[in-house]
Amino acid sequence: MIEVKNITKSFGDLTVLKNFNINFDEKGVTVILGPSGTGKSTLLRCINGLETIDSGDIIVDGLSVLDKRNLRQIRLKCGMVFQSTILFPHLTVLENLILSPVKLLKMKKSDATERARALLAKVGLTTKEKSMHNELSGGEQQRIAIARALMMNPSALLLDEITSALDPEMSAEVLRLLEKLAADGVVMLIVTHELSFAQRVSQRVIFLESGSLVADAQNNDFFNNLKYNNERIARFMQHIMQ
Ligand code: ADP
Ligand code: MG
Repeated sequence: MIEVKNITKSFGDLTVLKNFNINFDEKGVTVILGPSGTGKSTLLRCINGLETIDSGDIIVDGLSVLDKRNLRQIRLKCGMVFQSTILFPHLTVLENLILSPVKLLKMKKSDATERARALLAKVGLTTKEKSMHNELSGGEQQRIAIARALMMNPSALLLDEITSALDPEMSAEVLRLLEKLAADGVVMLIVTHELSFAQRVSQRVIFLESGSLVADAQNNDFFNNLKYNNERIARFMQHIMQ
């Protein structure tokens, strides 16, 4: 579904990803781990067409990011949620959810509203449909951001450290929601530092360091073997567990 083909991405003199290759197929949850500054966000942003690549190509559901006319479609296919996602502050939660489906997908307002209410139930926030952004906790904002991404019926969700600005309780709420979505079969690429969550939710684990792929493993192999036996991964694990 997503093919990253030999991409290079630099910011000025800094080459973040060099001749980088990876494929993501149409099912399951992939967790992306690795130290800060390693290129995890850059990778997701390149997939979503938020960053332009210097060379190589990325194909999402048959569409290349190199053709600018594809970008809108690619962004619809890959719903992205960030560390702090800003909902439109002048709109209610419900209005936030239905805006893009009505505008971009030409969904009927009544259908969009019905879908929004179903998703609000799924994320456990039915009572908040009339709330404004500043009336929601950080955890609620992230759950609404996830619902808003799901409104577009994306092929995959790209989630970039979406709990790292939250306190432990709110973070747990959001992670529980992601586990529920995973059980429903939602395809996700998740950048996270929450290791026990990563172990519970993922089928596949990718470990990036300095823009290169140190590991690309099945969950079981990663957490029972590489976590201890790969020196770079073991070092990272110790650091993050402290
Ligand atoms: P990670 O998400 O793994 O922490 P990033 O992908 O955000 O890492 O960043 C990788 C490297 O690229 C870092 O050194 C970061 O400072 C740099 N970088 C990211 N975005 C930009 C940008 N827009 N301009 C300049 N440097 C950037
Ligand atoms: Mg990042």
